[in-house]
Amino acid sequence: MIIENPKEKAKKAYLENKQLFERLKRKKPKNLDDVFHELHEEAFEQIDCLTCANCCKTTSPIFYERDIERLAKYLKIRPVEFIQQYLHIDEDNDYVLNVAPCPFLDSDNYCTVYDARPTACREYPHTNRKRMIQILDLTLKNVEICPAVFWIVEQFKERQEF
Ligand code: SF4
Ligand code: SF4
Repeated sequence: MIIENPKEKAKKAYLENKQLFERLKRKKPKNLDDVFHELHEEAFEQIDCLTCANCCKTTSPIFYERDIERLAKYLKIRPVEFIQQYLHIDEDNDYVLNVAPCPFLDSDNYCTVYDARPTACREYPHTNRKRMIQILDLTLKNVEICPAVFWIVEQFKERQEF
């Protein structure tokens, strides 16, 4: 799946996507999870995250306490040192990275802490989650970050089911 200028295209489609998501929130289709999950599988059969890494390059995952403990252990430092070195608290009171791209991303788009990476990284872009209806606002934001989410939402519009 090659999407040229996904960010620009996502920006152009923002209003249309917002209207679609507002409609979904109102209608609450029973098969919403099934459609998202099917398209998620289809998208990631075609896209290779190692050619993209846009999530790691542009946004920070949230770091929960268990993530900080696991990563600190992996790096053989104390959790407090991990926080001092890499994190700050954002406006939502969550621990996030000080910098983007993520300091654990290498030049070949590999995650150097893959086995200990935060839960949010494991679950990104969240389009295979249960109760997608609850994370439509997040999904709308992710359209601009993740080409797979962009493609999934475009498929929704093409199907015109909703
Ligand atoms: S932005 Fe989406 S497609 Fe790109 S690396 Fe992240 S999850 Fe994969
Ligand atoms: S920890 Fe790994 S997977 Fe998570 S943002 Fe950093 S490089 Fe990407």
